[in-house]
Amino acid sequence: MVKSVYIHIPFCKTICSYCDFCKVFYNKKWINDYLDSLEYEIKNNYKDEELKTIYIGGGTPSSLNIEELNKLFKIIKIFKINKDYEFTIECNIEDITEEKLKLFKYNNVNRISIGIESFNDKYLRFLNRNYSSNIINDKINLVKKYFNNINIDLIYALKDQSLEDLQNDLDKIINLDVTHVSCYSLMIEKNTKLYIDNIKNIDSELDYKMYELIFNKFNDIYDRYEISNYSKKGFESKHNLTYWNNEKYYGFGLGASGYINNIRYTNTKNLTKYLNRNYEKEYETLTKKDKIKYELILGFRKIKGINIKEFYKKYKIDILSYQNINNLIKQGYLINDNENIYINDKYLYVSNDILVKLI
Ligand code: SF4
Repeated sequence: MVKSVYIHIPFCKTICSYCDFCKVFYNKKWINDYLDSLEYEIKNNYKDEELKTIYIGGGTPSSLNIEELNKLFKIIKIFKINKDYEFTIECNIEDITEEKLKLFKYNNVNRISIGIESFNDKYLRFLNRNYSSNIINDKINLVKKYFNNINIDLIYALKDQSLEDLQNDLDKIINLDVTHVSCYSLMIEKNTKLYIDNIKNIDSELDYKMYELIFNKFNDIYDRYEISNYSKKGFESKHNLTYWNNEKYYGFGLGASGYINNIRYTNTKNLTKYLNRNYEKEYETLTKKDKIKYELILGFRKIKGINIKEFYKKYKIDILSYQNINNLIKQGYLINDNENIYINDKYLYVSNDILVKLI
């Protein structure tokens, strides 16, 4: 049963130097047709399930003006929503206005995810973010007037960034006292401005020190429940847990991915095709073995790892019957507490290497 929906709004007013997401420059003339195509896609695929989570991401959903947002929320009304729902919208800090926040609230949004990325103007310029750090406090206080469930995204491991710089960012986040923080080490992906400018990743030893600093600073305040995600008790992202629990979800919009009926799919990333309602999905049909592979890759991202009974319920296989799992437990990379199997804290930083051994 599908309980989650992701909706992609690909428009951005500026393009960040590190971005390899599916996005296009905001252009008013496309938005109406985009939203019409989105509505058509939803009406032709959504099967009336009662949803527990909706996530509007991007791109920059908050770049839409009030009239466009009203049209988007009218489309969202197609969905049946469970009374215990989580409804997130991503915002860029410079777009936040009281009028937009009131509109979000009126339309049942109950979680705001804000890409701040850095509190230092030098790094904001490096990332080509379109604001200066002195607006952050006022904007977050404005959001808090209407919402209590707020995520902030932070990027670290930036060129020339020192541990002190990162410490300053973390102190500022702690002062903002939000319920959820996602911290990502900068990845330099092909086809980004940083890649073209030949910017290199920072030294891996410094990257590790930064990773540890984040954990140590947040340890008393937040629970780390996923490798890069920290939350106050009860404020874990239910939507993202859908992904990490390898559960089904719809993905609607340009380049959006979904997982329905043993099929993982991704929509076309070509805006012209999307506007012409040619969604040209790429499909991956999953065998039981594939599903288990996803379960392991995604499940071990969670600090609590994989629940032994739940795994058996889903696949009718005892997870401990896998030799690879047992070997990793014996070697101390994985821990079995008889309820869950999870990656030993000490090795979380190299979790990708462990997953390679496992798969
Ligand atoms: S706002 Fe987000 S999607 Fe848009 S360019 Fe920046 S990182 Fe990419």
